[in-house]
Amino acid sequence: MTLAQPPHNKAKALRPGATRPAKELCSECGFCDTYYIHYVKEACAFLNQQFPTLEQQTHGRSRDLEAENDVYFGVHQDMMAARKQQPIEGAQWTGIVSTIAIEMLTQGLVEGVVCVQNTESDRFQPQPVLATTPEEILAARVNKPTLSPNLSVLEQVERSGMKRLLVIGVGCQIQALRAVEKQLGLEQLYVLGTPCVDNVSRAGLQKFLETTSRSPDTVVHYEFMQDFRVHFKHEDGSTETVPFFGLKTNQLKDVFAPSCMSCFDYVNGLADLVVGYMGAPFGWQWIVVRNDRGQAMLDTVMDQLDTQPVMSVGDRKAAVQQSIPAYDKAVTLPMWAAKLMGVVIERIGPKGLEYARFSIDSHFTRNYLYVKRNYPQKLAAHVPEFAKRIVSQYKLPD
Ligand code: FAD
Ligand code: SF4
Repeated sequence: MTLAQPPHNKAKALRPGATRPAKELCSECGFCDTYYIHYVKEACAFLNQQFPTLEQQTHGRSRDLEAENDVYFGVHQDMMAARKQQPIEGAQWTGIVSTIAIEMLTQGLVEGVVCVQNTESDRFQPQPVLATTPEEILAARVNKPTLSPNLSVLEQVERSGMKRLLVIGVGCQIQALRAVEKQLGLEQLYVLGTPCVDNVSRAGLQKFLETTSRSPDTVVHYEFMQDFRVHFKHEDGSTETVPFFGLKTNQLKDVFAPSCMSCFDYVNGLADLVVGYMGAPFGWQWIVVRNDRGQAMLDTVMDQLDTQPVMSVGDRKAAVQQSIPAYDKAVTLPMWAAKLMGVVIERIGPKGLEYARFSIDSHFTRNYLYVKRNYPQKLAAHVPEFAKRIVSQYKLPD
């Protein structure tokens, strides 16, 4: 007797370069490169925003809109700052993400890990893989700061017959994944997320590097850090810092992908465990445990981490309010003024969770205006309730 195929096996992936269902809002998450495209209308983060439903399915409850930390950071049961006692050389921060993935594989919690390496010829060109060895996971360390089709390996997962899987990914990838989780034929799915914001296409990344860094071709790694500076690391090991307020906003305004300008899932609300940096003191990583699966994932590495409780200092609101018209009018300060402002704000500005709220508020207000101006018909359904609450604290231009 032949078993009936699931309906998606009869669907056909889109060919490379073909217009995706979300059109210019597509974040190239990789979903439509697979036969799971059959479910795209429900699954795509840009066609069907469904946080409360998917939060309920994943965490057993949706965000409590009366609790500020839930509104900002999503459903969670614990938060902390952490760093590896022995950082992984070449990781984005201290390598907590890669270490958790390696431990989960070697301790037998999972049989494979979806993560993203880079192509041989370009360190920033993403190459998603289904890793089955620690070496393959390690080769995926460090951010590929470009839109990455991580979900394109989903067909390979089903073909491999794996039953226990870890997926590492950013919010838009994880939203689509959660929507089809039940169709994947898995017994256990673990999701390790990172926050994500302001991502770019590969061409956009080149423009950003060329406009901002003194030596675009030698950048191996960069991050917008808690000290209000972009830190670039170069091939020779040197570090270059550029104050946020000195970025050439007028040239960079359209560099971010339309998907990222209309995203409200900065904190990856549907992952089991999130590892970022923005809610932690400078030099530390920020960990958000959303549910018991996330706790079990974190437990695999606790003996390799230093940890401390999260803290929150300062008041972000005036700075956010001032940044809204400045961004809108693409104001760029002269470099001396930008550096001075960076120094002042680093001393007296928001820190820890308040810095994370600063970053969320600045991006959500900007993105809300972007959707309102460019996709007014999508505004009501696409912007989730928690984001509407955050944005409503500020006065926005028309
Ligand atoms: P590593 O051990 O170096 O592992 C990095 C992992 O990220 C790898 O497993 C790899 O598979 C995965 N990865 C790399 N690039 C991508 C990609 N494009 N899409 C999906 N997965 C990818 N954190 C914040 O707190 N605030 C931010 O504003 C923020 N912005 C980010 C923007 C982007 C585009 C990305 C990819 C991440 C961002 N992060 C942000 C997360 C942060 O930069 C670190 O990735 C995180 O703290 C993990 O560091 P690590 O040293 O533990 O990771
Ligand atoms: Fe398809 Fe993902 Fe693009 Fe949506 S964002 S259209 S699911 S590839």
